[in-house]
Amino acid sequence: MRARALVDLAALRANVRTLRARAPKAQLMAVVKANAYGHGAIPCARAAREAGAAWIGTATPDEALALRAAGDRGRLMCWLWTPGGPWREAVEADIDVSVSGLWAVREVSDAARACGRTARVQLKIDTGLGRSGCQPDDWPELIAAARAAEDEGLIKVTGVWSHFACADEPGHPSIQAQLRVFEDAVGYAERQGIEPEVRHIANSPATLTLPESHFDLVRTGLAIYGVSPSPEVGTPADLGLKPVMTLSASLASVKRVPGGHGVSYGHHYVTPGATTLALVPVGYADGIPRAASGTGPVLIGGKWRTVAGRVAMDQFVVDLGGDSARVGDEAVLFGPGDRGEPTAEDWARATGTIAYEVVTRITSRVPRVYV
Ligand code: PLP
Repeated sequence: MRARALVDLAALRANVRTLRARAPKAQLMAVVKANAYGHGAIPCARAAREAGAAWIGTATPDEALALRAAGDRGRLMCWLWTPGGPWREAVEADIDVSVSGLWAVREVSDAARACGRTARVQLKIDTGLGRSGCQPDDWPELIAAARAAEDEGLIKVTGVWSHFACADEPGHPSIQAQLRVFEDAVGYAERQGIEPEVRHIANSPATLTLPESHFDLVRTGLAIYGVSPSPEVGTPADLGLKPVMTLSASLASVKRVPGGHGVSYGHHYVTPGATTLALVPVGYADGIPRAASGTGPVLIGGKWRTVAGRVAMDQFVVDLGGDSARVGDEAVLFGPGDRGEPTAEDWARATGTIAYEVVTRITSRVPRVYV
């Protein structure tokens, strides 16, 4: 096989169990948006359920509907809505939908009326991320609209929720500030007669570092894939997590070249002397960042090598120096690290990004192999 992303579902199940033990009083939502951060939404959702995830979360309604179509019957929530979205399909599929504006209360109510059902709605407050969610000043108006729709039997508010800005920087002052705004917003909603089943704000880093943020439910994404949200939160090993994805490729060419040989587009690497070059047949079309040119680490023949010259669309080169290798030998880009290979965190450091992006950007051209 040219390249493969091995996905260790036993590791994912173990990570879900570890996270549940870290938040023993809360339910766990496994976040499988963006094709489970590149790992494959349907198999990962199934494995997470097997390990006790009561909820599955996605960003887009299409992602949630695809899970229902694949047979997932548990609690399922999606949060990234735009006007004219598939509200009716979501209501008919018993998906909890996030609502943070009056327009969305109207659209979900219309959908519920049209199909004669009660929509499950989770109200989102922006406690300080500054992204989606109802501004605190507009919260009373949103609560009033939601209560009115509840009284008509069109919706049931099942949750009140929010999202952190800086949970991956433990101790950041915004964390406590967001918690205070969240508690106020929940208190206000409850005084107006809203009875949410679940109140939730914690993502992976908050689940791992901040027990007072767990409330009724934790929404864990990255950590279920065994990747650390940030160095400050700890390494996967510190956190008791096992990385789920191993990305590897088979060398497509190995050849001797003289010194002074320019390598890849732009000749940004020139061999310092006679050497052996190996061709790794993955490139930016597979999701290997072009920023890995000259920096990305790869394990070949038991040693870490570095991408020589530019990453191209389908391939990159490594300089093996005095070592040899054979066509077909394995090059491991990242994995758990227990065979000496780099990790997704190493790739994030080497390419100036975050580990979230390293795994999520691996494209569909790379076959996922589930074990
Ligand atoms: N909740 C929401 C709304 C998200 O957008 C995300 C992902 O960014 C998560 C939870 C999961 O975050 P993490 O991957 O840090 O656990």
